[in-house]
Amino acid sequence: MLLAGNMLLAGYMLLAGNMLLAGNMLLASNMLLASIWRLGHSLTFPHTKIRFFNTNFSLMKIVVLILFFYILLCRCLENRENHWEYSDQSKWCEISASCCGKYQSPIQLWDSDRKKRVSPFEFTNYTQLPETVTMKNNGKTTTISFTGVTPALSGGGLQHTYILSSLHFHWGMDNYHGAEHILNNKQAPIELHMVHYNSKFFNLSEAISSDERDAVAVLGVLYRIVNKKSNPSLNQITSRLRLVKYNGQSTRIKPFSFRKLIPASTKHFFRYSGSMTTPECNEVTVWTIIREPGYITNAQMKTFRKLCSTDVDELVKKTIGNNYRQVQALHRRNVYLGVESTNHITTPAIVNDETYSFTDIPNTVLYDDDY
Ligand SMILES: [Zn+2]
Repeated sequence: MLLAGNMLLAGYMLLAGNMLLAGNMLLASNMLLASIWRLGHSLTFPHTKIRFFNTNFSLMKIVVLILFFYILLCRCLENRENHWEYSDQSKWCEISASCCGKYQSPIQLWDSDRKKRVSPFEFTNYTQLPETVTMKNNGKTTTISFTGVTPALSGGGLQHTYILSSLHFHWGMDNYHGAEHILNNKQAPIELHMVHYNSKFFNLSEAISSDERDAVAVLGVLYRIVNKKSNPSLNQITSRLRLVKYNGQSTRIKPFSFRKLIPASTKHFFRYSGSMTTPECNEVTVWTIIREPGYITNAQMKTFRKLCSTDVDELVKKTIGNNYRQVQALHRRNVYLGVESTNHITTPAIVNDETYSFTDIPNTVLYDDDY
């Protein structure tokens, strides 16, 4: 009887929890009331009986109740955290106040940003092949994780060494949208983010939860469309994207050197202090956007646009496209255009008098056959 009573109770509670998650607050509250009513009238252990609202109430049931509410709260918070859309970015601040902070990303970048000489980047273990590389569709983007190597980024004006944790992309449904950072008022069709954490932390989530401004370093690469042969470095990814078409799907891909995803020249790059670009929008990120664009073909771009945000068994299919955040206000932040220099001066050196000749910015309108 006791077991049956508890199972019935658990059934009521589970149903109430699901109603709550489904947003049906009225039904949920009714189910919860019914659960509590059953608690008050179900069987108890006589030797652990306590008085509660003049009803026999066992200690065990109180524990069950507390446990239930704890699980429900966790599920609600988890649901809340994951429940955000790129199509409704004005609501992000309701999910996390940080999304309305003053150190938000992405931002506009300009070649006219002030220049600063810094030591060259050091890419440690970046050319080593990982043991395994796994690609996953998480409903918002495709993420790439790996095992067997510890690529680390330092130099380039960074104050610490940062360990590569994972990679992901932001892209658009056409060639005029997609990247998060806007360069010289032009938006590239796709942007790669290589997410690193400060080596003093154990992993990325520990770094993010530290709330320290330089806990995370994201290296961003903008790609421009070229009408030539496909980028072999991206081929490992783009040729397998069809295997992770739906949310939750993952696949192993052939290990490749992560250095190849970054343009050969990192001589010029943008640097500023910002945030993660999805809720919770934690303001913990040192941003580096490499000035030299990478390249991608139209055919390779199209493979990204076939990815779905929906599960494989959902009847209505939705594509992921346009998974980029709008640019954010700069407020009082400084952005500089770093210039790698072996003769860099350690004290801040602003070199505004130099002129630079950049290759064309990621202009998606023009195709560059001579790339
Ligand atoms: Zn990103």
